[in-house]
Amino acid sequence: MERMRSSVSGCHDPAERLRQAWQQVRQARRVVVKIGSNLLTAGGKGLRQEWIAQRATEIVHLLQEGRQVVVVTSGAVAAGAPLLRLKHPPASLREKQAAAAAGQTILMRCYELAFAAHDTAVAQVLITRADVENRRRYLNARDTLWTLTSLGLVPVVNENDTVMVEEIKFGDNDTLSANVADLLGADLLILLSDVAGFFDADPRLNPQARPLPLVEQVTPALEKLAGGAGTTVGRGGMATKLKAAKMAARRGCHTVLTDGFRDNPITEVFKSGPVGTLFLADGTPLSAHKAWIANARLSRGEVLLDAGATRALQAGKSLLAKGVVAVRGRFDRGDAVVCLDPEGCPIAQGSVNYNADELQRIMGQHSTAFEAILGFVGDAEVVHRDNMVLLG
Ligand code: GLU
Repeated sequence: MERMRSSVSGCHDPAERLRQAWQQVRQARRVVVKIGSNLLTAGGKGLRQEWIAQRATEIVHLLQEGRQVVVVTSGAVAAGAPLLRLKHPPASLREKQAAAAAGQTILMRCYELAFAAHDTAVAQVLITRADVENRRRYLNARDTLWTLTSLGLVPVVNENDTVMVEEIKFGDNDTLSANVADLLGADLLILLSDVAGFFDADPRLNPQARPLPLVEQVTPALEKLAGGAGTTVGRGGMATKLKAAKMAARRGCHTVLTDGFRDNPITEVFKSGPVGTLFLADGTPLSAHKAWIANARLSRGEVLLDAGATRALQAGKSLLAKGVVAVRGRFDRGDAVVCLDPEGCPIAQGSVNYNADELQRIMGQHSTAFEAILGFVGDAEVVHRDNMVLLG
């Protein structure tokens, strides 16, 4: 699919760069709107039907302008919790799963009513991490989203919390929304949150903290600034928002993080931005296949490289067994692994051609020795560059 050109010109004037970037935002055709639990429930006290209705009105305007919109919603656990009649908020995995199951129907009813007022149908899409990790299911989910949006429906996506276990969850809907942006081939991800943007310092500790209008690249320094999770009813925090923006950027998708408590926060993005923080898409986005490797796949192991292999990967070459010095984790051929430089920093993620036991035996060796060691002629590369993404 054709990607929106995302780079802003080489212009050095920050105001001009911001203006150009927002021009691109306003042109977005495929949009994912992520709505956090705090907005939907206003602190965990039932769903705000009227607020959801107002967002539906805004989204229907976007559809009328010829855009396609997918909503990623939280709020199932928060909406279902009161139905369990517990004396405490759902705490165990089972309680949360039960709350999600009970709340998801309430949540969908709210969206259904809100959009029905505009003669627009919604479609419930529940996704698990396993669905995006598995290439076939990923493609099926993508096709369904494309079909629904091209037919004028609004898919309303949530994680299928009821069947998930902790280790393999998306865990937060920020990450889920970036995966959905990836699936849809979105140009724009809007994270509606209860914060005004990404701040240059923690606003809870520093009253001077200001939201950054434009983040051209998510750097390790920004990631450090983001810290951990921070809200009461949602599971995301600044760290997950930054992670989502980074995932979306790789795929050529801009992200706007904005305060959903403002009036018409979605319309504002298209009509009167700059607003909140705009995270710019990468100038040269990854292909769909490489983005899937970087964004959708969970790493099953780690492969430690020597300095030579590290340089080779950074120069765009494949990983050879000769440059592998250690193997960690249990993985199969085809699984995703992370490649670490000699200092232990992750530099790449890719699909591996050997399982962990085989790799233990051939590491440090030239590929001509593989047959004698393994008893079969395998691939010359441990991770081929076509199946690898540099994480830098
Ligand atoms: N999927 C969860 C829910 O619907 C929300 C996760 C989050 O808040 O990020 O309750």
